Amino acid sequence: MIEVSGGCHCGAVRFRAEMPDPPVPALDCNCSVCSMTGFLHIMVPHENFELVTGRDALTSYRFGTGAAEHLFCKTCGVKSFYQPRSHPDAWSVNANCLDQPVELAIEKFDGRDWDRAKAALE
Ligand SMILES: [Zn+2]
Repeated sequence: MIEVSGGCHCGAVRFRAEMPDPPVPALDCNCSVCSMTGFLHIMVPHENFELVTGRDALTSYRFGTGAAEHLFCKTCGVKSFYQPRSHPDAWSVNANCLDQPVELAIEKFDGRDWDRAKAALE
């Protein structure tokens, strides 16, 4: 495991997380919200993630089924992590929001055909 840190652009939101040794598995999703925000997913089990600062800085957005909770910094608008629908026991951390880039093993996730893509993960 490696320990990483990251957060939003303005620095209000800061987190620490443990991830597997690189290359770290990551998902590149093409759904409407991920493609607009440029989010690159690293799934981190809830117990391997700690929000250090910024709980009050976060605002949330839900759409569609409402199962995912998209969390954005109220000040800078950056989504550094959120609760994904596909992995209810994990946070999805944005690889683009880590302090130090890590080597990634990127797989495509066809979020536009969500049910089929989710089934293919299992
Ligand atoms: Zn911010």
